[in-house]
Amino acid sequence: MSARVATTCPYCGVGCGVLAGVDAAGVVSVAGDPSHGSNHGRLCVKGAALGETVDLEGRLLHPQLRGQHGQFQRTSWDEALGRVAEGFSRVIGEHGPDAVAFYVSGQLLTEDYYVVNKLAKGYVGTANIDTNSRLCMSSAVAGHKRAFGEDVVPGCYEDLELAELVVLVGSNTAWCHPVVFQRIAAAKESGARIVVIDPRFTATCESADLHLPIKPGTDVWLFNGLLAFLFRHGVMDTAFVQAHTQGLAPALSAAEGDASDPADVARLCGVQTADLLAFYRLFARHEKTVTLFSQGVNQSSSGTDKVNSIINCHLLTGRIGKPGAGPFSITGQPNAMGGREVGGLANMLAAHMDLHDATHREIVQSFWASPRMASQPGLKAVALFDAILEGRVKALWIMGTNPVVSLPDADRARHALEACELVVCSDIVERTDTNRHAHVLLPALGWGEKDGVVTSSERRLSRQRPFLPAPGEARADWRIVCDVARRMGFGQGFGFDTPHQIFVEHARLTAYRNHPPADDGLPAAQRLLNLEGLATLSPRDYAELAPVQWPVNPKGDGSRRLFSDGLFAHADGRARFVATPARAPMHAPDREYPLVLNTGRVRDHWHTMTRTGKSPRLAGHMSEPYIDMHPHDALHSGVREGELARVHSRWGAMVARVRHGGDMLAGNIFVPIHWNDQFASDARVGGVVNPVVDPVSGEPEFKHTPVRVEPF
Ligand code: SF4
Repeated sequence: MSARVATTCPYCGVGCGVLAGVDAAGVVSVAGDPSHGSNHGRLCVKGAALGETVDLEGRLLHPQLRGQHGQFQRTSWDEALGRVAEGFSRVIGEHGPDAVAFYVSGQLLTEDYYVVNKLAKGYVGTANIDTNSRLCMSSAVAGHKRAFGEDVVPGCYEDLELAELVVLVGSNTAWCHPVVFQRIAAAKESGARIVVIDPRFTATCESADLHLPIKPGTDVWLFNGLLAFLFRHGVMDTAFVQAHTQGLAPALSAAEGDASDPADVARLCGVQTADLLAFYRLFARHEKTVTLFSQGVNQSSSGTDKVNSIINCHLLTGRIGKPGAGPFSITGQPNAMGGREVGGLANMLAAHMDLHDATHREIVQSFWASPRMASQPGLKAVALFDAILEGRVKALWIMGTNPVVSLPDADRARHALEACELVVCSDIVERTDTNRHAHVLLPALGWGEKDGVVTSSERRLSRQRPFLPAPGEARADWRIVCDVARRMGFGQGFGFDTPHQIFVEHARLTAYRNHPPADDGLPAAQRLLNLEGLATLSPRDYAELAPVQWPVNPKGDGSRRLFSDGLFAHADGRARFVATPARAPMHAPDREYPLVLNTGRVRDHWHTMTRTGKSPRLAGHMSEPYIDMHPHDALHSGVREGELARVHSRWGAMVARVRHGGDMLAGNIFVPIHWNDQFASDARVGGVVNPVVDPVSGEPEFKHTPVRVEPF
């Protein structure tokens, strides 16, 4: 056995530390890293099976070009990179910078994300760079920015263990963030109470003291009702609200307009009034409350308002920035947070600066010494694929993601790629539903081969380190981007030879002109993302970098929790209550489509299964796609448990097997997101999901699509 390498799990946003090694026969073994602050040695079943997913079967090992008749042919790196650089340069020359786009992934490392964002915004001059993280946490980003002035998760996992009450909203934590759930379960052993707010009875609910099976999409009514209840009963930190917040009156007015009577709220949310009041009283009584939320909140046409309706309750009670208290967005992907840090969203700049702020644009451009700077937000994921279909975007580079499976209205995404003049895919897998539409395939390094940094949901930077050789001709994503940038004539900005050089540049940018004004007598507006203490890391320091939570001060000390001083990142230092008038999901069920489709993950698979699909152990948990539905709905639909059925919406159809699991509320069905045409025919639920998005965040409404179910 080779010496074990300390690295980080590549799946969910918990960001568990992993010790990985390879024996003489090439067998990879993994164990939880006891010294890592995110997991203290724990791993879930997906993390424990990582060694079963790193073989080379199905890997993309060489650059390929698609020929005239659709077949792929191996080519040299030189030819492939030249084709990409020439194609992008030609489109930019003929149609302008906004005719090209990049669609990237929360699987990328921070260094990969940094250089592609730099290429797009600072050199090409377009903000048309968005990411699959748009699909999972952009509503949390927008909610944080509205409330705090910056995209910040205030707390840390330790708060879940210190809390007296943990409220889990729209999160099947037991399956989707299992190691965090183990920490919550440990807190329950010590007396903490757990409330789960979820339309489904999930594995998480089995540990709950109270489960509120709310009607899908009614979260804002619930939390507006809570805000009104707390205010009416004097459960308010008046000193905190007066000293550190703004906007309570309009937020209260909106909340009371929607939800002044708990009986009305309970009726709107579809729960018992006694249960609703039990939750409100639990929240009122426990100072140490953490509200953890995930995709059930974010993936909604009112996702940003849902986030702010939760944060409003924490601001009213001053439960933020304190041990065991705070709102807590938990991210889906291993580096959704790192991508946000380097500006990997179409509406953000690097280092948490704002694209719409001329001063911020000037700061970033002067730091980069770049020839240009995107001056307005680019196209968010769903709009980006619409623009391709409409011919406004003509060249697209997709990195490490599979939009033909994962986007809503996924057939439209497929048609968009078919219509696109130039599609480049960097990936570790050779054949995916998306790659078949590529003109150029570029082999990327995968987990165990890559070298860089990821950031977990608690702002903890953690190293992914290689312990396997690069297979075939695969290269790091950052290197591929730099090679293309140089061929496009941007050599001066992309002379990186190592990920260390990129990381240090990123850290320096976070600290560049990032010092609060000194003596103006006002609370300092601040950019909290500051990695000053990492800006002078030597290559050896970087190689040995221990996990640390940002911001990192000049001495290298991290920050467990933020806002304990009551100083927020808005210019006046105050947090904002946000008025969140409740609204229903965009599309209501009707006679033709009488059921509501909800989507999500299963315990043992990850995204589109390109890795977890390799592990027999993981496949054994759920071997095929399924439709969870209420027995009455099955009867009315003419389908039976155990038989195949077809789910139809106005946007598409898919096939799966009927189950009566999940204690589904009548009128609702659930289908997991993972399966696709590589594993079962007609199994892409993304093809069924409506493409409605939240107007603020652009995040799609994956949790609420009207459908009907028919016999297959
Ligand atoms: Fe990996 Fe998430 Fe499991 Fe931790 S909880 S081992 S990060 S999948």
